[in-house]
Amino acid sequence: MLRLTLDMDDVMADTHEKLVSIVLNDFQSTLDKKDFEVKSLRELLHPKQLTRLHKVMNEPGFFANIQVKKDAVETVYKLSRFYEIYVATAAMEFPNSFKDKFDWLHKHFDFIPWSNIVFCGHKSIIHSDYLIDDHVRNLNAFKGEGILFTAAHNLQDKTYRRVSNWKDVAELFLPNK
Ligand SMILES: [Mg+2]
Repeated sequence: MLRLTLDMDDVMADTHEKLVSIVLNDFQSTLDKKDFEVKSLRELLHPKQLTRLHKVMNEPGFFANIQVKKDAVETVYKLSRFYEIYVATAAMEFPNSFKDKFDWLHKHFDFIPWSNIVFCGHKSIIHSDYLIDDHVRNLNAFKGEGILFTAAHNLQDKTYRRVSNWKDVAELFLPNK
């Protein structure tokens, strides 16, 4: 069986949506929701605001209640019939996220066994045929075939095969009949 590895934030989980709502509700900002669809947080926010957001992300509980991306659960479940599914998340950046992320996966993707969950730093360590990730730097570090999951911070990239949602993932990886 081919091995298919999935990133969590902004692939399985809609982390960006949660960050945007924090910025819109809690930060002083004249930005509009639409701005965050076409530009990265890094481009839009002041460095002080980015530091504040980083702190929020490292608070216990932040990663516990994030919305699942549309169609992700059903598609990953279908994929698990044809691929060995792994989850690889660069959780080391936010050490308080470990338990929240683990619980989140168990809650929404309980069919993925604990043995297939990898909390990592650098994704070059991942040995897999495919990696679906929203960060070009992670795909660059990866040795198999990288698939870019569209996000506001990667719209310019032309290097990788791209999927915009989980319907696209299904189209690419499932037999469709
Ligand atoms: Mg990600």
